[in-house]
Amino acid sequence: MKISVKTKILQKCCRIKSKSIISHVSQNRVKGLQKLYATKERSLADMPVVKISRNVCKEILHTVGSQPPESGGILLGPVGSNDVTGFFFDNCGSCTGISYSPDCTTLKQKMKVEWLPAGVDMKGFVHSHPGRLDGLSVGDMIYINRLLDINDDMPMFIAPIVIPQEFRMRPIVVLRDKPRMPREARLDVF
Ligand SMILES: [Zn+2]
Repeated sequence: MKISVKTKILQKCCRIKSKSIISHVSQNRVKGLQKLYATKERSLADMPVVKISRNVCKEILHTVGSQPPESGGILLGPVGSNDVTGFFFDNCGSCTGISYSPDCTTLKQKMKVEWLPAGVDMKGFVHSHPGRLDGLSVGDMIYINRLLDINDDMPMFIAPIVIPQEFRMRPIVVLRDKPRMPREARLDVF
């Protein structure tokens, strides 16, 4: 009888203890999840936004996205805005499979005689990477920083990376005020 009472008390203690651990864990989990969502919301709100036309996205995926890496093209939009409304696939760019260099002569010429007179200028470059390498390389960052230095009217350089293997595009921008830190951007497709 005595043993049975002791056992019962012990069982009760164990139940209370385990219950309190569970509730403590679940409370922490809820707090953790709330924190995670708050951080996610905050980071979404903090993300630079790139307004890009649906047609440009389609064109990018049907050219850069459908070719072996590395290929690329220039992103265009109205002068004085960050909107991307046009894309020119750089057919003559040098694509070695490990690096992409724009065909600057053709692009400069088109900028002068075609795009600027039509009120559009460069918003950035899109190019593809092999495998799943969806971040900007050191070489990419040097190139982008050089272009930001030359084009002092650009508040940001839009530099999405396309992964042909997965047929996807990761939106990345480099902001003028933090030129060494690429930022994940949010696409606002219109
Ligand atoms: Zn690259």
